[in-house]
Amino acid sequence: MKPRPVTNIVLLKHHLQALKLPTILAECDKVARQCRGEGVDHLGFLLQVCELELIERERKAAERRLKGARLPAMKTIAGFDFGAQPKIDQSLVMNLMNCEYIDNKENILLIGTAGTGKTHLATGLAIAACARGKRVRFVRVTELVTQLLEAREQRELTRFKNQLSKLDLLILDELGYVPASKVGAELLFDVISTAYERTSVIVTTNLPFEQWTEVLDNERLTGAVLDRLTHRCHIIETGGESYRLRDARQRRAIPERVRSALGTGAPAEQKSTVEGQPAR
Ligand code: ADP
Ligand code: MG
Repeated sequence: MKPRPVTNIVLLKHHLQALKLPTILAECDKVARQCRGEGVDHLGFLLQVCELELIERERKAAERRLKGARLPAMKTIAGFDFGAQPKIDQSLVMNLMNCEYIDNKENILLIGTAGTGKTHLATGLAIAACARGKRVRFVRVTELVTQLLEAREQRELTRFKNQLSKLDLLILDELGYVPASKVGAELLFDVISTAYERTSVIVTTNLPFEQWTEVLDNERLTGAVLDRLTHRCHIIETGGESYRLRDARQRRAIPERVRSALGTGAPAEQKSTVEGQPAR
């Protein structure tokens, strides 16, 4: 076979760069050699390099979506121990990974005490959503309220809310740890009501519904927030002992005095063995 003129190769590389096809540029020589060896025709070659370009583009886009979601940690549903949470309907969570709830603009409420896996589940669902091409943003409620107040002060509230409205899934983590101010609560309500039936929202909270008024500091507002969030909503209750404490206790890493200060008692027979042991 006649060698290809060097100018053709240089031109091809230039054109591929101009067309922004970096994967084809990087792989065309190798794929061309393989195709020659396997007797694949020109169209077959073209198909293969186009597929490589598309796969790489999708991988990069997924990476960008994941970065844009600003997750606190890469906790997946595969890494969630459902055995430790027998009350949770595992098949419901697996179903939610398909993201149909996002297409249907439904919400998810994760309710339970601290350390029982709410943020882990929300993060796992966020990763699944990013992999399916959804635009996701994870934010702690206190952080969001601060951002909203700052944006309002700088007269950038509309721009900030426009950014939020472009999302497919908004995750509001830890509703209820710190009471919001009146203005903060109103701004938060505004975000939730704008999202209603447009953007799916996942809320994690340690608050039973009847205590939401304390946080939002307004019965009417609380009623309206609950009404919007719980309409078309999947409720997942986590329970039992904190997974962190359970895990640490199983490894006998937590001194008894720390556990009793946290109010998480240990079985009597373990107390003497754990007490006084240095944390590992
Ligand atoms: P919450 O948000 O309910 O306070 P987290 O989701 O932050 O709790 O969980 C606390 C820690 O325990 C995290 O590191 C999380 O990954 C882990 N964890 C909690 N529940 C489970 C579980 N069922 N399986 C695996 N890890 C868990
Ligand atoms: Mg949490």
